Amino acid sequence: MKLFAIFGDPVEHSRSPLMHNSVFKNLNYRACYTRVHLKEGSKLRETFFKLALSGANVTVPHKEEAFKACDEVRGFAKEIGVVNTLVNENGRLIGYNTDADGFMYAIKEFAPIKNVLILGAGGTAKALANRFLQDNIKVTVLNRSIHRLEYFKELHSTCHTWEDFTVQKYDLVVNTTSAGLKDEELPAPLKIIENILNNTSFAADAIYGKLTPFLQLAQNKNITFKDGADMLLGQGVLANELFVDHALESEAIKFYMQKSFEL
Ligand code: NDP
Repeated sequence: MKLFAIFGDPVEHSRSPLMHNSVFKNLNYRACYTRVHLKEGSKLRETFFKLALSGANVTVPHKEEAFKACDEVRGFAKEIGVVNTLVNENGRLIGYNTDADGFMYAIKEFAPIKNVLILGAGGTAKALANRFLQDNIKVTVLNRSIHRLEYFKELHSTCHTWEDFTVQKYDLVVNTTSAGLKDEELPAPLKIIENILNNTSFAADAIYGKLTPFLQLAQNKNITFKDGADMLLGQGVLANELFVDHALESEAIKFYMQKSFEL
């Protein structure tokens, strides 16, 4: 029996165990998926091997630490330095990032998107900014503090803190901050968020399972929005394919993951 887990702090809210266990159980794959509350990211590698895991997902705030923990990083994760999926390949820790493609899957119905405002500058923002730029989508990043913006400037995206922000027209604004996850905060002061929502066609939040204050405002303004559930599904399907080394059919994985959302 293989064992998988999600690492995070907090991690209680994560739906990943339900999603992956639904796939394993219904497709008779001998594996089980649990959650690990990890406070210190530096202990990720040690904990992974101590638990004899076959693979894992990594959530806030350890995705950048997960990148450092790997023996080898493959694909898109290598470009962005952010890992959300770990696979134990014969005792070597291999890192991947499935968040960005998961998000592209989620916003398919909003297409065409040409101009995006990203709120936040953490691991998820890095993944999305790189992925958008790959598709020639214009990216603006707005973050609470300046220190994380350097990375985005080097990508040639437009960067602002709350202090120097001036609004433009956007096709999509996406909240990648953790504001609204454990609290009822907005990702930026109310005046700025209202101004942004008055100038966007669509709104999305990476947070799932609740209507964040950000999405609540979007709803009040009759803007088409979605929470992070489809992104979660998209990244989950891609991670599961890596966990089972493509031994299960993608459509079946998707079906049983989606079914777990009803639980
Ligand atoms: P990080 O910790 O890497 O980054 C967090 C970012 O949020 C930073 O830019 C930080 O700003 C900002 N921030 C935190 N608190 C506040 C606040 N109160 N007000 C304004 N800005 C704030 O997080 P991740 O990128 O890993 O994850 C971000 C969110 O995305 C989480 O809620 C996570 O659950 C969700 N997520 C959902 C996924 C899904 O599948 N649906 C997949 C991945 C992530 P500063 O630099 O100033 O500290």
